[in-house]
Amino acid sequence: MTTASESKLVISGLRVAVGGSEILKGVDLEIGPGEVHAVMGPNGAGKSTLSHVIMGKPGYEVLAGSVTLDGVELLGLPTWKRAQAGLFLAMQYPTEVPGVSLIDALSAAAEAAGRPTDDLQARLEAEADRIGFDHEFLTRPLNVDMSGGEKKRNETLQLGVVAPRYAVLDELDSGLDLDALRIVSRRIEQATEENNLGILAITHYSRLLNELKPDRVHVLAGGCIAASGGPELADELESTGYAGYAEPESETASAVASGADLDPFADPLA
Ligand code: ADP
Ligand code: MG
Repeated sequence: MTTASESKLVISGLRVAVGGSEILKGVDLEIGPGEVHAVMGPNGAGKSTLSHVIMGKPGYEVLAGSVTLDGVELLGLPTWKRAQAGLFLAMQYPTEVPGVSLIDALSAAAEAAGRPTDDLQARLEAEADRIGFDHEFLTRPLNVDMSGGEKKRNETLQLGVVAPRYAVLDELDSGLDLDALRIVSRRIEQATEENNLGILAITHYSRLLNELKPDRVHVLAGGCIAASGGPELADELESTGYAGYAEPESETASAVASGADLDPFADPLA
C-alpha cells in the first residue's frame, strides 16, 4: 500500500555522465503532489540532462543514484513505463513527427494504457480552447513546421489531456510570448489544483516563475543543487545572475547568465 510520504517523485544522489564527462554529480530533489519546484541554472548546467534522465532518454550513463515514484525505482524502466507510472516530460525542443498527428499519438498512448479513446477528440478540443490553441493544430503532423511557441502550446495541450501525476517542464517558456506564457502557466497551475499535479519546472529565466508560482526554487550548478529556497531565490537570481554559482570553466555560461545588459542584442523581455 502506498502511504502519503511515498507518493512523491524523489531524485537522490543522481550522478550522470554524457559523452564521457560527468554532468550531474549528485542531485537530490523531492517533489510532492501539487507542488511546483523550479530548477534554475546557467546554460550547460545539466538541466536538460536531468529532465532526459528522469524520463529515460537513451544516451546517458547513470553512474549512481535513484529516481523513484511512489517508492518504485524508475531508472532502468523504458520511457513508456515511466509515462504509464504518471510521468510526463514537456521537452525543451519538442520532436517533429511527420505523418503523425497529435490525435494519432494520443490515441496510441491511451490505447496502450488501456484508457478509452472515444472522447479523445472532444477532450483535445476542450484543452485546445483552454489555452487558445487553434483546432487546426490537432490534425497537423506533430510539431512539423510549427513555431517555437506553437510547439510549447502543443506540449501543454498534451499535458492537459494525458493528466500525468508529475510533469517535468524543460524551458517551457522558450518561444512563448508573454501572453502565451501567462495562458500556459495558468493551465498548468490549474492542473496542480485540479489533479494534484507535481511540477519540476526547468528554466534559466525567472519570467516563467512570475507566472507559474513555485513553492521551491533550486539552483543547479556545478553538477549539484547548489542552493534551494523559496520564490525569493528566483528574484535574487534575476539581479545577481548565476555568477556566484558558476564553475570557473563555464565562462560562456556565466557571461550569458550574468545579465542582459552585457548583451546589446539580448531579448529585453527575457
Ligand atoms: P542545460 O539544459 O542546463 O543547458 P544540458 O543538460 O543540455 O544543459 O547539457 C549539459 C552539458 O552536457 C553541456 O556541456 C552539454 O554540452 C553536454 N552534453 C549534453 N548532451 C551531450 C551529448 N549527447 N554528448 C556530449 N555532451 C553532451
Ligand atoms: Mg536545456
